Amino acid sequence: NKKVILKNYITGFVKETDMELITSDTIQLKLPEGLPGLIAKNLYLSCDPYMRSRMSKHDEPSYVPDFVAGSVISGFGVSKVVYSGHPDFSVGDLVWGMIGWEEYSVITNPESLFKIKDIDVPLSYYTGILGMPGLTAYIGFYEICSPKQGEYVFVSAASGAVGQLVGQFAKLMGCYVVGSAGSDEKVDLLKSKFDFDEAFNYKKEPDLNATLKRYFPKGIDIYFENVGGAMLDAVLLNMRRHGRISACGMISQYNLEKPEGVYNLMPIITKRIRFKGFVILDYYHRYYKFVEKIIPDIRQGKIKYVEDQVEGLENAPAALVGLYKGLNVGKQLVVIAHE
Ligand code: NDP
Repeated sequence: NKKVILKNYITGFVKETDMELITSDTIQLKLPEGLPGLIAKNLYLSCDPYMRSRMSKHDEPSYVPDFVAGSVISGFGVSKVVYSGHPDFSVGDLVWGMIGWEEYSVITNPESLFKIKDIDVPLSYYTGILGMPGLTAYIGFYEICSPKQGEYVFVSAASGAVGQLVGQFAKLMGCYVVGSAGSDEKVDLLKSKFDFDEAFNYKKEPDLNATLKRYFPKGIDIYFENVGGAMLDAVLLNMRRHGRISACGMISQYNLEKPEGVYNLMPIITKRIRFKGFVILDYYHRYYKFVEKIIPDIRQGKIKYVEDQVEGLENAPAALVGLYKGLNVGKQLVVIAHE
């Protein structure tokens, strides 16, 4: 059973060498005595930005626990049940949820898994549009942003797993949508594939405040925040009265030992801005309803999804590190085995 472990807790920017692919000599595929668990063959692994936080040792517990140094990394993934000791699961069932970065996982809490019912769409979608990032975009936009037709929407990290969906949801709602991304290729994708009204490469813009004024001469009603730092500071200067900011993520800060300052906070008061954070695990009970709603849009081609797939567990560390360098174009995932 090949697996990827975190060698040691880290500080600063994550590197591929912080992780290691190992092969256990004994394949321990036995469930602990008396536990109604599962053995799963892992098919797809999801690389997600929040994983960086789990690689450091924290004094205060976060909403997800730190990884255990020297042990297998875990994350979201899609798996097939190959042994079941649980009455609700059968051999052959497809599931997604928290699994190890390994070929096979012993899952002792199968209640935490989601069952995959619709298989006429790519199975890998359950790491993205039909998994945690999809639900994040859905709740984060429709619920946290309270959007209205005709509003001006700005999305950062707009071509990623979450951002590409937020932009499409906003377009379907009849909003004016601008996205930022870190390469010209991504900017093209936003405009040509996802139907954003405008997009720009923030790495080529020396003055983000001026850039936003150019794209939003009347200001921004909704900012879907994925990056934090300098972008957030510039956005705060360009929000409209009663604007909403959905604080989803701040990836620019995840590898910094000392977070960057954000200075332009006064507009939150003067413009009566609602700046609301959320953590998607509080909304998992809404998952199956979300799937029912979005699956028809995927089937009809109303919503598109771009993935960045790499093959092989050995390439998982590089794929994860690539997220923080913007190397992924679309949802980053790792193929471990085809069904
Ligand atoms: P993405 O697929 O968007 O991948 C990460 C992208 O972030 C990169 O491709 C890169 O795109 C951008 N990025 C990386 N480093 C920086 C930087 N220093 N400054 C600006 N941009 C950077 O990731 P997801 O869509 O999965 O996640 C997007 C955000 O949503 C993250 O912040 C994540 O933590 C958050 N999130 C929050 C959840 C919640 O429950 N609140 C749940 C899921 C995700 P580019 O080339 O454009 O720079």
